[in-house]
Amino acid sequence: MKLLADKTAIITGASRGIGRGIALAFAKQGCNIAFTYSSSVDAAQSLENELIATGVHAKGYQSDAADFDAAQQLVDDVLSHFETVDILINNAGITKDNLLMRMGEADFDHVMNINLKSVFNVTKAIQRTFLKQRHGSLIHMSSVVGVKGNAGQANYAASKAGIIGFSKSVALELGSRNIRSNVVAPGFIETEMTDQLSEDVVQGWRDGIPLKRGGTPEDVANACVFLASDLSNYITGQVLHVDGGMLT
Ligand code: NAP
Repeated sequence: MKLLADKTAIITGASRGIGRGIALAFAKQGCNIAFTYSSSVDAAQSLENELIATGVHAKGYQSDAADFDAAQQLVDDVLSHFETVDILINNAGITKDNLLMRMGEADFDHVMNINLKSVFNVTKAIQRTFLKQRHGSLIHMSSVVGVKGNAGQANYAASKAGIIGFSKSVALELGSRNIRSNVVAPGFIETEMTDQLSEDVVQGWRDGIPLKRGGTPEDVANACVFLASDLSNYITGQVLHVDGGMLT
């Protein structure tokens, strides 16, 4: 049985990394996929082809999640192409790390806009559709850093902590309409975002994780499949840690 058969998902930031992993895992479960990206046109085209080859409907949209009007346009375009949306994964995110002493205003604003305001933008844009159809699953990508903090990532941690407050509030507001809102908090997942770190730093992270390895995009994607599917119909307002036990 396919867990997401005949459902349609919007996934932001899926040209690579975790978002790409989610798109592939969802397609395997029969889900139609509308995904976004910022600038990776070739990677997006090849993902679109790969998804279509699995037998689902799929389309990539170059759309800046931090832009309020673009988010509304995205949802309009997706609805006119796919007719319905059942799942939104707010995954797009960036880092601009620095110690507070050296962090400029632009680096703070940029991270907040792409990581947190984007979640408001796309959730707000899909809200009316979910309310009308009286169902919908919202999944927002936070981070272990949003729960625990991390030196050198005050902007990123603030954005990821903000996502948790946003999601819990939306869960309270929209629960009576059968709309669920949950957060996934990955730990150390090995993607291009973490490729920027040296091998020594990466090994240090791995050694400190109870399961003794970094996570994969597929590890995160499997948690999203569960939260998107009817298996989690009675779960809302939660933060699911996918971190190999880092926060234990
Ligand atoms: P990644 O490999 O850097 O990929 C980021 C994705 O977001 C790309 O598809 C990128 O598109 C897209 N994107 C960036 N800015 C965007 C914008 N303004 N509008 C739309 N899309 C945009 O990142 P990742 O490691 O997969 O991380 C995905 C999410 O998981 C992020 O929210 C991140 O904070 C979170 N996370 C990651 C880790 C980890 O260890 N990797 C841990 C915890 C949480 P382009 O390719 O076009 O640039």
